[in-house]
Amino acid sequence: MTGQPEAPAPGEEAPEGQPAGEVLLEAVGLTAGYGDLAAVRDASLRLHRGEIVAVVGPNGAGKTTTMHALVGELPLMRGEVRWLGRPVASPLHRRVREGLGYVPEVRSIIMSMSCRDNLRLGRGDLGHALELFPELEQLLPRRAGLLSGGEQQMLILGRALAARPSALIVDELSLGLAPVVVGRLTEALKVAARQDGCGVLLVEQQARRAFAVADRWYLFRNGRNVASGDTKSGHQAMEQAYLASTGVS
Ligand code: ATP
Repeated sequence: MTGQPEAPAPGEEAPEGQPAGEVLLEAVGLTAGYGDLAAVRDASLRLHRGEIVAVVGPNGAGKTTTMHALVGELPLMRGEVRWLGRPVASPLHRRVREGLGYVPEVRSIIMSMSCRDNLRLGRGDLGHALELFPELEQLLPRRAGLLSGGEQQMLILGRALAARPSALIVDELSLGLAPVVVGRLTEALKVAARQDGCGVLLVEQQARRAFAVADRWYLFRNGRNVASGDTKSGHQAMEQAYLASTGVS
């Protein structure tokens, strides 16, 4: 991979520029896919406590497949997922009980239920969801299907963050939403990371958008994790890595 080296193994010291927080979630040589076909091969990444990490790459790069494998929705063909320092093979609901939050690409709310009841389906405190997104308060009795796309995404993210997860994976937070709504959502992610120490793995096709909120990034292309880096070094590093991965430089 280009960009900065991988974070240290447990017990090793972090090299300069590496996050020093505890490693919450880790993929080592992750290979996963559908049927006999691997859609992502040999991907490795780490998520530390209190950081926001962007996973970027074009359509079909393998980002969502990697997230499905990380949360336990898709079995691994090869490699390992480590959660809270231990290899895991448990299903998603067990990992959720242990503090893993997951906001999938497809909006996971029940459209016929009220906003309040959807929030109650989560493991968290309704009050905390309303603290993060006060605009949800007046929408509580409304059916989720009647909310705007942005309001639905606030409901979903508010529910996920209300459980105060140790780590949160968010797949395509901003798809089709107005910049002002995306700003509200990313602000809530920053609060979770900076104040509560939540590690956030944020999948985004819009690399620049993800870059604006993230501490580090991983670039996926053609089912491979081709580069990684630190956002402090500027977005040019990511753009160069992208061009290099296409054979243009
Ligand atoms: P996008 O940004 O468009 O969501 P992505 O980077 O998340 O793309 P994936 O959704 O992981 O990419 O897809 C990786 C590859 O796996 C693609 O070639 C896709 O067609 C294939 N794929 C995804 N889901 C399935 C599935 N359920 N069955 C078979 N192939 C799939």
